Amino acid sequence: MSQFQLHDSQRRATVPFEPLDPGHVRVYYCGPTVYDVPHIGNLRAMLTADILIRLLRQLYPRVTFVRNITDVDDKITARAAANGEDIGSLTARTTAEFHAGLAAMNMVPPDIEPRATHNIGEMQAMIARLIKQGHAYEAEGHVLFAVASFASYGALSGRDPDELVAGARVEVAPYKRDPGDFVLWKPSTPEQPGWVSPWGRGRPGWHIECSAMAHRYLGESFDIHGGGSDLLFPHHENERAQSLCCFPHGKFANYWLHNAMLLVEGEKMSKSLGNFYTLSDVLDKGPVEALRLLLMSAQYRSVLNFTWSGLDEARKTMDRFYRALETAGPPDVSGRSVPQAFLDALCDDLNTPKAIAEMHVLATAALAGDQDAAADLKVAGEMLGLLTQEPAAWFRGGTAADGPSEAEIEALIAERLAARKAKDFVRADEIRAQLTDRGVTLEDGAGGTTWRRA
Ligand SMILES: [Zn+2]
Repeated sequence: MSQFQLHDSQRRATVPFEPLDPGHVRVYYCGPTVYDVPHIGNLRAMLTADILIRLLRQLYPRVTFVRNITDVDDKITARAAANGEDIGSLTARTTAEFHAGLAAMNMVPPDIEPRATHNIGEMQAMIARLIKQGHAYEAEGHVLFAVASFASYGALSGRDPDELVAGARVEVAPYKRDPGDFVLWKPSTPEQPGWVSPWGRGRPGWHIECSAMAHRYLGESFDIHGGGSDLLFPHHENERAQSLCCFPHGKFANYWLHNAMLLVEGEKMSKSLGNFYTLSDVLDKGPVEALRLLLMSAQYRSVLNFTWSGLDEARKTMDRFYRALETAGPPDVSGRSVPQAFLDALCDDLNTPKAIAEMHVLATAALAGDQDAAADLKVAGEMLGLLTQEPAAWFRGGTAADGPSEAEIEALIAERLAARKAKDFVRADEIRAQLTDRGVTLEDGAGGTTWRRA
């Protein structure tokens, strides 16, 4: 069996992964705050989680993947008010959009997907315990975590607590003992969502949500906590502080995995730069497997630059892989395991570019007619959520934005057939030329006319 090595943010090194229980690996990922449609900035962390879970399932008999939904947050409250929509309908709608987007992307769904609003009791229990143990205090309807009470505060992000406070835009408030102290519970006005608590009607801070849900579903110690590098500080630092202070005998997360950011056309994605794309904007232009491949083209710890030309390149790479399968003939994959060199690449800290390079090696052999290599290519591709279609279906696929729709093509083929029957070969050739110009190639065979996009 390949030894999985991963870069642990806290140890700041690439280390062998040793599960707490090899019979059951447990992973927690911070999920979305549901107030807007999914955009491609969300995809990097989601795809990293997807590849991680697919690999762990290959290596271990049982894996539990927990990813939460943050459905109480001031951004949600503000958006609902701006939309004139109630909070419940906004969060239900955006949660459904998020699920549909990830399903369209062929992402592995979480085994457990807790919602913050269903776990308020757990959060309150943790807060009460932190107060009792001297790590939190109540002030003016707020409950704050006292960072000075936790000696290893800053150890995850590797920053000195004083530096953290100086560098981060911490909210200075008169009721804080230390400017770095962060909110566990805050008071709600009658218009804001709130729950009855020993500290008055209020709502949780964001960080305590994840600590409480991770504890409820994975216990005091679990294997891997993941998320985007933007969550390292303060979110993950604060989760860790709360959980270790609340449950000092546990480890909380044994490994921390952080993916680097996604840039769009070389810049940070933002609405003001006009490079902000939703998932559906992108899926209108390129097939899912090309987008997945593009997202895997950099290892998760390197910055990934999303470009439209990169999406086009990824599509051409998928064409090559499908052409290899088509050339070698239908592969027999029954009982075939994932090729070792490919698996070793993924075990090397999820080195997807290396895994894709292995797929190219297999594709080259398959293009030369090697059926064994084609079967290996198919098994490797499917492990990454690629090569899930028949080659013919892939080559017919694509989107209306790139050329004529499937219905239009079929109609033109029928018209061409009728023209040929009527011996109007000029018209028949015109139709073929027209389709060729629009990127569709016709192939006449014994079984009739088939087509593919170029
Ligand atoms: Zn979180």
